[in-house]
Amino acid sequence: MVARTIPVAPFDLVVFGATGDLVRRRLLPALYMRWRAGQMPPTARVVGVARGVPGAAAETPAADAFRDFARRALEEFAPAADEIDADFLARLDFAAMDVRDAAAWSSLGARLGEAGSRVRAFYLSVAPELFGVIGGALAANGLADGGARIVVEKPLGHDRASAGAVNDSLRAGFEESQIYRIDHYLGKETVQNLMVLRFANALLEPLWSARSIDHVQISVAETVGLEGRDYYEGTGALRDMVQNHLLQLLCLTAMEPPARFEADAIRDEKRKVIQALAPIAGAATATETARGQYAGYREDAGNLESRTETFAALRAEVRNARWSGTPFYLRTGKRLARRVSEVAVVFRDVPHSIFGEERHSDLRGNALIMRLQPDEAITLRMTIKEPGPGGLRLTEVPLDMTFAEALGPEVAMPDAYERLLMDVIRGNQTLFMRYDELDAAWSWIDPILAGWEGAPPLYEPGSEGPGEADALLSRDGRRWRRLTE
Ligand code: NAP
Repeated sequence: MVARTIPVAPFDLVVFGATGDLVRRRLLPALYMRWRAGQMPPTARVVGVARGVPGAAAETPAADAFRDFARRALEEFAPAADEIDADFLARLDFAAMDVRDAAAWSSLGARLGEAGSRVRAFYLSVAPELFGVIGGALAANGLADGGARIVVEKPLGHDRASAGAVNDSLRAGFEESQIYRIDHYLGKETVQNLMVLRFANALLEPLWSARSIDHVQISVAETVGLEGRDYYEGTGALRDMVQNHLLQLLCLTAMEPPARFEADAIRDEKRKVIQALAPIAGAATATETARGQYAGYREDAGNLESRTETFAALRAEVRNARWSGTPFYLRTGKRLARRVSEVAVVFRDVPHSIFGEERHSDLRGNALIMRLQPDEAITLRMTIKEPGPGGLRLTEVPLDMTFAEALGPEVAMPDAYERLLMDVIRGNQTLFMRYDELDAAWSWIDPILAGWEGAPPLYEPGSEGPGEADALLSRDGRRWRRLTE
């Protein structure tokens, strides 16, 4: 089976922050892979913007220096890129400018010319303080018109009020229908498969409720620590991961079937899930959440008084008819035993076991595991008879729906950014967050942050996280799936 590629319309993509980490590691490789797949039209243009290209000689034209920068980035980060296609590099251009310099904008406008029938998109891969500056300047210079699109990355605020201010600065020049808020988790194949599995198979949806599902575990575990991410200190795991990625995964798992596979229909259903979450505030933060900080974080962050949590776990309740009685446990952390992101839907056990209690795993019964990383895969845990003579013993085995095996090795798994960038050009907002979702998410998160007092407990680097997180589940008679499972 060969993946189908539908070329997108000719476009001009202006990337602010083009010499930054995100562009080097993710955006340029994603564009290049789409170019190689034949999806990026030969007339497409990518214009990088930054104050300069690092290491470029003064006499080298900026566009040439940027192409050289891009070639090196692709050699390092694009999969299977031995000889970088010169035709792709020829589609790159560069505008050296400080976005705060109002006088510089007219030359960017002149470089872009009339949009005509070309799609125009602006990707803001810069610190959020510059969103308002860039959004305002684009509007003032007539570049926001004609259906131009603006793409922004997290962090979109550090609480509800600041997220509102970021949004206001974007909305000053752009309509909601022009704003693409990226949560790259939504671009992952497995995440979209979650919707297809649920809504295109007759088998699962009848079971998809508190009646058959005991609980859901959503885990995003990293092995890395701070790694020079300066923004993290004072941000922490709840804002950095739970407010966006984990809540989005919860929404897609819990949402009602939308009437159509259409951006607003899906985003309506996701927002309803967030609004149905039982509030966690005040004293409840002690019983419904757990925090931790890995030992050594304070030294890494250069703040020996730091109270920033590098681990957060929560017990979320979706208060609606479908989910009442089925908790959603969320956890995320740095410096944990293994890098893994997954949604595990754990089904209720059979009401009466005719085989007695002999099972090998204490996480028993059926579970649907959707793994987002490291290798995207979906498995269904089933109970079977352990092979062999003698007594009848039960054991759990995974029914593997790993795509490479089922669909053939030619079906490559595109990086999330590949899909999301092409969706921006196509004008498809399905996998992007609408502001009301974001606002609802912050409304749920803010009281949790306010309820946390004092420093988080420490946990050992390389462990499964703090004991407080285990207590969150053991109080309910459950336990986390081991990260190393
Ligand atoms: P970065 O490495 O610090 O890059 C920032 C870029 O902005 C550089 O190209 C810088 O170039 C440019 N810039 C800064 N001030 C400017 C100005 N006044 N005028 C024009 N250009 C300016 O940042 P990053 O890690 O790529 O992150 C970019 C954005 O994506 C941030 O909002 C970040 O939170 C978000 N994000 C990043 C990642 C990631 O993996 N890196 C993941 C998720 C979200 P000059 O200094 O030369 O101008």
